[in-house]
This record gives sequence, C-alpha cells and structure tokens, in this order.
Amino acid sequence: MKLLLLILIVYLAYRAGKSWLMRNLQAPARNGSLNPRIDDVMIKDPVCGIYFPRREGVEMRHGGQTHVFCSPACRDRFLEMQKENKRA
Ligand SMILES: [Zn+2]
Repeated sequence: MKLLLLILIVYLAYRAGKSWLMRNLQAPARNGSLNPRIDDVMIKDPVCGIYFPRREGVEMRHGGQTHVFCSPACRDRFLEMQKENKRA
C-alpha cells in the first residue's frame, strides 16, 4: 500500500514537472506578463495604421471586442470616430 502511494506521488510530481517544463519552453517568463503568448505579436493600429508590438499598445474593450492602439491618443481618436459614426 505504501509503495502504491509512493508511485502515485512520483507520478504526480512527474506530471507537474512536465507541465511546468512545457510552459517554460513555450513562453519564457519575462516581465511577469499575464499574456506571454501575445507578448511579441505585431498588430496594426486601426486608427493611424502603424504596426507595433501588442504588449506596448493601449488596450480597450469596446462593443464586445478588444481593440489595441499604439497610444492613448489613438484610442481617444477611435472613440471620437465611434461617436461620429453613431451620430451619422
Ligand atoms: Zn496609432
């Protein structure tokens, strides 16, 4: 009975270690980011059309979608545009 418990513990430790290793291989911990997967994705600013790394962008949720802008100025401009669209 003791042996079975030992095997179980070793197995769980092996699994935990493997998943920990996989996580570290897939996304090296950097800056303590919560979204390491999208860290280095280049995306286009919908307002000025510039390409920039997503992690440096300004995120905003709007209408059930997440928009990312190169700067708070572009975010504000986007909001202005949305208002104008609604008025028209
Ligand atoms: Zn921009």
